[in-house]
Order: sequence, then C-alpha cells, then structure tokens
Amino acid sequence: VRAQVMQVEESPTVGYEDIGGLDDQLREVRETVELPMENPGLFDNVGIQPPSGVLLYGPPGTGKTMMAKAVAAQTDATFIKMAGSELVHKFIGEGAKLVRDLFQVAREHEPAVVFIDEIDAIASKRTDSKTSGDAEVQRTMMQLLSEMDGFDERGDIRIIAATNRFDMLDRAILRPGRFDRLIEVPKPDEVGRAKIFRIHTRDMNVADDVDFEVLARESEELSGADVKAVTTEAGMYAIRDDRTEVRMGDFRNALEKLDHDDEPDVSRTF
Ligand code: ATP
Repeated sequence: VRAQVMQVEESPTVGYEDIGGLDDQLREVRETVELPMENPGLFDNVGIQPPSGVLLYGPPGTGKTMMAKAVAAQTDATFIKMAGSELVHKFIGEGAKLVRDLFQVAREHEPAVVFIDEIDAIASKRTDSKTSGDAEVQRTMMQLLSEMDGFDERGDIRIIAATNRFDMLDRAILRPGRFDRLIEVPKPDEVGRAKIFRIHTRDMNVADDVDFEVLARESEELSGADVKAVTTEAGMYAIRDDRTEVRMGDFRNALEKLDHDDEPDVSRTF
C-alpha cells in the first residue's frame, strides 16, 4: 500500500545544473534545506533554528519537484514524495495513518527530504468545515503538523511542500514552526527560457541555425515543462522528416503545435 501512494528514491539524480532560471529560488532552498543538513553547527553557533518546513508555490511545471529532488541529491538524502490528494481518503483515520507512515518511512531512510505535492488538498481554507469529509481532511493536516513538531529541527529530515493554489491555503499552516519559509516559483522569463531550452537540448543533435534566444523570445508564458515538451516535439518533427538533426524550423513548428494544443478550437464541428 505504501509503495502506491509514496514515491521513494534512494539516490535521485537531478542536479542544480539541470534547473534553469531559478537562481534566487535555488539559493533560498539551499540555504534553508541543504545548509542545516550539511552544517547544523552553523545554526547552533548563531543560536537560531532553521525553518521547519519550506513551501514552494507557483504555477504547474515550473520546477518545484525538481528543486526538491536536486537538494535531496546534493545532500545524499532519500527523496520521498507524496501528493496531498493521496492523503484525502474516504475512511476515517486513513489520511492521518498515511502521514504517520510517511514519517516512519522518512525516519527509516534518514537523511531524507520529504516532498508533499499539492499540499492544498489537505490545507485549504474551508467554506464549510462541518461536513465530515472536511473534518477528516483537517485531522490529516493536524497529524502532519504534529509530526513536524515532533522532530528536532536540526534532524536529518527536511520537509518541502508545494502548491499551485497559494490563495486557497489555510494560513494556519504558514505559522512559525510550520511552513514558515515561502518561496515563489514563477514561470521563467526570457533569459530563463533560453537556459531551459539549452538544458533540454544538451543531448540533442541541434542544427547550427537554431537560435535559443529567438525561441525564448517567441515562447512567452511557457513553463519549464512546456519548454521541455517543445524540445521533444521538435525532435519528433525531425524524425518524421527523416533527419537526425533538429532545425530551427522544427522548434518553430513545435512551438506552434503546442500553442494550438493549448487552445482547442471550440468552433470546430465534429
Ligand atoms: P507541478 O506543480 O505540476 O507538480 P512542478 O513545478 O513540480 O509542477 P516539475 O515536476 O519540477 O514541476 O517539472 C516538470 C518537468 O518540467 C521537469 O521534470 C523538467 O523536465 C521540466 N522543468 C520544469 N521547470 C524547469 C526548469 N526551471 N528548468 C529545467 N527544466 C524544468
């Protein structure tokens, strides 16, 4: 049962160099997660406690999971991921039990980075907290907070949560000692997109006419995940055309295709 809802990676392979355009965010994640794991004495000497939990928020596909994985890789920690939606269950007590299991697994794998995606699923502002389903969700959240209280901040388990719905969050989870470090992870700007294009074409056979600066300019509003999809799609165009080299035209076609996929033509009749 555990394996289905929890993803455990003993040695994640994502590195900081695989992440484009999030320099400030990475610095903050490293300061708050990596530093206390690698050098707890630093915090002792100054007499402060590192943040208990870090919350990453921003649109989907911007690299939140990647950053959590990269910091786990850097600290030789096990990466343990669970989605908040997996914690919302029909049976009373099941969500809280899964949270206990999650931390049990983390303790068995120390050092560990626990990544809880879609934290909003268990920590939303409620419109009607009287229905039993909501009460159950609240109990799950309380269990998570009590697990976080239960361990030493300088211990070898760090918690990173992520959400696309910051506006929906119950502010109670942002109080000191909880998820008290907030890091916004936005969509990349033009410079960031160019970097992400370069990262995802490192192993591609790219023709000389390909200009990533131009592609970055022409791909406004795309997330990192979208940019990655464009590079794969561009490769598909080359394959269809029986070429091993991917040209600027392939990237342009891919960009255009993705644009159209995003906006289905509702006027079409079937
Ligand atoms: P979600 O909120 O949907 O879970 P996320 O922010 O956690 O999204 P990731 O899972 O980290 O997004 O990103 C999905 C994929 O998109 C990554 O595996 C990577 O290939 C690519 N990607 C996203 N952002 C970046 C980035 N900043 N640099 C390089 N690649 C990126």
